[in-house]
Amino acid sequence: MTAETTAPGAAAVNAIEVRGLRKAFGDLEVLRGIDFSVARGEVVCVIGPSGSGKSTLLRCVNLLEEPSAGRVTVAGTEVTDPDVDIDRVRRRIGMVFQAFNLFPHLSALENLTIAQRRVLGRDRAEAERIARANLERVGLSDKEAAYPAQLSGGQQQRVAIARALSMEPELMLFDEPTSALDPELVGDVLAVMRGLAQDGMTMLVVTHEMSFAREVADRVVFMDGGVIVEEGTPEQVVGAPQHERTRTFLARVL
Ligand code: ADP
Ligand code: MG
Repeated sequence: MTAETTAPGAAAVNAIEVRGLRKAFGDLEVLRGIDFSVARGEVVCVIGPSGSGKSTLLRCVNLLEEPSAGRVTVAGTEVTDPDVDIDRVRRRIGMVFQAFNLFPHLSALENLTIAQRRVLGRDRAEAERIARANLERVGLSDKEAAYPAQLSGGQQQRVAIARALSMEPELMLFDEPTSALDPELVGDVLAVMRGLAQDGMTMLVVTHEMSFAREVADRVVFMDGGVIVEEGTPEQVVGAPQHERTRTFLARVL
């Protein structure tokens, strides 16, 4: 049996712990031995060139991909344990992707209530109360009746964030949440994420937004070729990178 309740002293347990993580697709080694952790309440940004394995790393954290080797522990539960109830673990993890993946035939409010009702078994009134609170949190109280097609990309992404929050996750994973947006819509989404960070949410964020990483991240991880090349504070990694590969990457994105 995996302990689902919070044990005494659990505050000391990392939100995410990754040890010796490897992932291959056939002959292609995408993750080649990753070790890192995210403390509770910490905001960690993952940066790195396209194809370096950032999305695969996130997908291994909530087992959308099965690691080839290594251990991944989320909030004290080892998700790589073959006996783990992965659906239970996934419920504790909010995930926001580049593509918003809203249900097109459901209103914003219904997009937020459906999983609460089906997965968590909340009744309609409670699910709507929580949904409305989260729409307010992302600045979209006036859009609860709108369908995704009636919303801008930035608004849709904020609905997707509010939907994840409605499940009351212990941590949030973001995979390039602003990469599909027109530049003028990026700021509103980043502002919502900044607010979450200020509220103490544990966040692992893959992003190319260096100003966000600089201002919001407690730590920045630079990946290249399936390994972590360097990690440290934003001042260290973005401000004074130690490795040539990091400098080359930053020169391209800054
Ligand atoms: P990033 O997010 O840093 O751009 P990804 O984790 O998406 O990188 O991909 C890393 C590498 O793994 C790429 O070469 C990509 O083509 C490959 N890859 C990702 N997912 C799969 C898959 N399901 N099957 C085969 N190759 C994959
Ligand atoms: Mg990616």
